[in-house]
Amino acid sequence: MKKTLKEIAEILKADVPAQGFEDAVAEGASINTLTIQPGNLFVPFKGEKTDGHKYVRQAFEKGAGISLWQKDVPDVPHDLPIILVDDPEAALQQLASAYRQENHFKVVAITGSNGKTTTKDMIAGVLSTKYSVQKTEGNFNNNLGLPLTLLNIKESTDVAVLEMGMSGFGEIELLSNIATPDIAVITNIGESHLQDLGSRENIAKAKFEIIAGLNQNGILFYYGDEPLLKALVQQTEGLKSASYGYEDTNGLYPRNTEIDESGSRIQLGTEETWVSIPVLGRHNVLNGLATIRTALHLGLTLGEIEEGFAKTEMTAMRMERVEGANGEVFINDAYNASPTSMLAALQFLEEAKTSGKKIAVLGDMLELGDDEETFHREIGQKINVNEIPVLLTYGPRSRWLAEEALQRTPLVYWFKDHDELVAELKKHLSKGDLVLVKGSRGMELEKVIEAFK
Ligand code: ATP
Ligand code: MG
Repeated sequence: MKKTLKEIAEILKADVPAQGFEDAVAEGASINTLTIQPGNLFVPFKGEKTDGHKYVRQAFEKGAGISLWQKDVPDVPHDLPIILVDDPEAALQQLASAYRQENHFKVVAITGSNGKTTTKDMIAGVLSTKYSVQKTEGNFNNNLGLPLTLLNIKESTDVAVLEMGMSGFGEIELLSNIATPDIAVITNIGESHLQDLGSRENIAKAKFEIIAGLNQNGILFYYGDEPLLKALVQQTEGLKSASYGYEDTNGLYPRNTEIDESGSRIQLGTEETWVSIPVLGRHNVLNGLATIRTALHLGLTLGEIEEGFAKTEMTAMRMERVEGANGEVFINDAYNASPTSMLAALQFLEEAKTSGKKIAVLGDMLELGDDEETFHREIGQKINVNEIPVLLTYGPRSRWLAEEALQRTPLVYWFKDHDELVAELKKHLSKGDLVLVKGSRGMELEKVIEAFK
């Protein structure tokens, strides 16, 4: 977005305290003076710990073009290009929405319990072979991150690929109404936010809000192996949609799948040719299918899609392959964990072909609500101890998981401390071994891998 103070004030129907700045220009937006870019619109927030209005001058020193200012905050500067608003968050969203309505680019919006960031990276990477693409940076997927991302999309961009996250009802609806997607994607329904939403049905409904702002000709692509999503689609009249998944009832499915430690190859539906997806695990094949579905819709050929997969850079700590100093291979999936993603990652480890042995380093899964013990015990029961003979766990909840696994195999350990875990892992590890490292963000299990680099 590139606009003058006059234009922004008109969109927001807002007052300007000082004269003479009508032609000041802002390009893109920022809420943080540490990362602000020259020319940005600065949006200060009154937070619990600190008040962003204290940083407005600093923002201008770093090149801000214009700043918003919340009306009821005193000491409005009269020597700077400032726009007075009732509520900076609402203003940020309103501005993003107005910019989006100018229709400079297409929007692909992605939600789901797991796989949003991965699918976003894949879709953006693949579409880049044909289009000029921008995407959500990192995890900027909420009520502030999404409008900021939109405002930083250049007018010359063809496709914006946006991640939409949530922790309760109404949040995805708000984001969808701002971004008005041309394509919406729902990757899956898991158990994250069960604590806030109460049931998987409710999680599905909350994700399904992504169709709220769908453009007139917009379409939903969804994971069709999930009955909750299928049911919601069937209940919605007039929705254009198509499914993908492993089951052959889906519009797009892999007739054949080959998976190893370097990635996956699939044969689609009735096609003869194989498509390589250089990411690890069966769940990433699904993210790959969402990507193929989207890319075909936007006119790419399978050849272009495959070329795009090969060039795609994935965000770190999602099934990331890391080589240890002594020839061990780590699968760093320590970004986050829920029961669904834990099982997906364990399944990958079970099926992986390797010359060495397989080891799992698992940490607590957080935010699971009242059933957290059951969820951890279930993972402990389901782990295939014949394929994965060594299990190291970390964190108070993992103890449940370890107790269950210990019923079936002796080499199960439980730690309260990273260093002790690393010391034990060293005893078991030899060249060629394959080690899965996974736990919720708060467990910081990536630090374990650092010790072996
Ligand atoms: P967040 O809510 O934290 O933003 P996200 O939805 O963006 O998460 P990713 O960061 O892409 O998800 O992946 C997180 C983890 O979820 C991965 O490490 C992987 O283990 C698992 N995962 C990814 N895709 C899927 C999928 N389609 N189905 C099940 N699990 C998946
Ligand atoms: Mg994410």
